[in-house]
Amino acid sequence: MPRRIVIIGANAAGVSAAAFARKTDRKAEITLIEKDKYAGYSRCGLPFVIGGEIPSLKNIILYPPSYYKMMKFDLRLETEAKGIDLGAKTVKIVDKEGREEELSFDSLIICTGARPWIPPIEGRDKKGVFMLRTIDDAKAIMEAMSTARKAIVIGAGAIGLEVAVGMREKGLDVTIVELLPHVLPLAIDADMAKTIQERLEEHGIRLILGKPVKRIIGDEKVKAVEVDGEELEAHMVVAATGVRANTDLAAEAGLAIGPTGAIKTDFRMRCLDARRQRPVEGVYAAGDCAESIHMVTGLPAVSQLGTTAVRMGKVAGINAAGGYAVFPGVLGSFVTKIFDLEVGSTGITAEMAKRLGMDVVTGMVTHLTKAEYFPGGKQIKVKLVVDKATKRVVGGQVAGGEDVTQRVNTLAVAIQAGMTVYELAMARTAYAPPVADVWEPIVLAADSVLRKLG
Ligand SMILES: Cc1cc2nc3c(=O)[nH]c(=O)nc-3n(C[C@H](O)[C@H](O)[C@H](O)COP(=O)(O)OP(=O)(O)OC[C@H]3O[C@@H](n4cnc5c(N)ncnc54)[C@H](O)[C@@H]3O)c2cc1C
Repeated sequence: MPRRIVIIGANAAGVSAAAFARKTDRKAEITLIEKDKYAGYSRCGLPFVIGGEIPSLKNIILYPPSYYKMMKFDLRLETEAKGIDLGAKTVKIVDKEGREEELSFDSLIICTGARPWIPPIEGRDKKGVFMLRTIDDAKAIMEAMSTARKAIVIGAGAIGLEVAVGMREKGLDVTIVELLPHVLPLAIDADMAKTIQERLEEHGIRLILGKPVKRIIGDEKVKAVEVDGEELEAHMVVAATGVRANTDLAAEAGLAIGPTGAIKTDFRMRCLDARRQRPVEGVYAAGDCAESIHMVTGLPAVSQLGTTAVRMGKVAGINAAGGYAVFPGVLGSFVTKIFDLEVGSTGITAEMAKRLGMDVVTGMVTHLTKAEYFPGGKQIKVKLVVDKATKRVVGGQVAGGEDVTQRVNTLAVAIQAGMTVYELAMARTAYAPPVADVWEPIVLAADSVLRKLG
């Protein structure tokens, strides 16, 4: 009898899990359960549809229906998983007509993702307050933008900034309000954030940092937002204040939920039993709903990034189909583009290190992406965070006009490989005037740390 694999949630993690399960077991019966009417699309593309760089929401649907047929996946759209019975190895599902069914599984992969979360701000339920997670959310935001002139974005994480840029590109008057003292507060340090803040302000976005939104004002519909005693007129508000893992199904089934609020997993993405805290054979979780370990701190962590979701999905899919794969943990490597400025980071920031009681040394350089004499080179800033005790690189931040992603990726590899700052300073990098300078900025940043270490 073929192996029956049931996957709950058909997006980044779920579709990746299905693809790798299929590669591992050509004969398995693979069923994907998805409560939305769309599967396998890129949420990451949504802000760029809002900003008009991507012409249509259709462009971000990654797989046509023919893909699921070709892969012999049984994709059930608009069907919700309502309960998991681990003893009987069944999942109860209900389709949009209300028809119930019990699916038996040999392996189950929970990829239920996350949902946006808004702190309990007075007025958050008013008409005109939006969140961005789904295609329907993006449609609603774009419709509101067609009549709004003034928009407020709450939260200056990557999604908040990307939406703010998109709305500004479309001509709206945009203000970002962030509770913490600088933009991208979980991904970069204040000194790097300054460059981004300047760029946002140059493009006419107002920033209110280090202040909470007190309340959202209006009758039925939003009219203004109160911050620090000031009433800011607003025709629409986008709250980009974080996400929470969808764990109800897992928790009700008796699976362990970790300190991050996501489903606990082991190194093979197996879920743990809540009572005994032991892996449950044949039951996996992947993506935004799953907790892993941070590769630098060793602490439970969620990265809630698409890159992590597809990699976790790969590991869960291979294991669920009888193969063997290991997930080493998360680093939180990310990159984004704020107007013409690319920004990214990996590992931990100096601010995070301080909160963890870790003594670090940092080095920062501003350099050029091409040889100094070659026309068109752009400025690039690299910051390195190095553990003082071990001299290992534990974090990196990069901001510049081009070539940021590959430097973030290089630093991610250096951290994963446990490289010291001495080794990074010896990196044998490439050079040609039109594409790079003879001195790689990462190496210069490492030299700057070495000078401080003495
Ligand atoms: C606006 C935006 C921009 C982003 N940009 C980036 C980026 O640039 N880079 C990056 O790395 N990451 C980015 N991300 C994060 C990335 O999109 C997520 O990490 C990724 O989508 C997680 O994939 P997932 O499959 O774990 O969860 P999801 O994409 O949330 O998918 C989970 C699916 O499960 C379904 N589901 C839930 N419960 C049930 C149930 N009971 N029954 C059936 N179906 C169910 C949901 O409908 C959903 O489709 C962005 C996210 C957003 C919202």
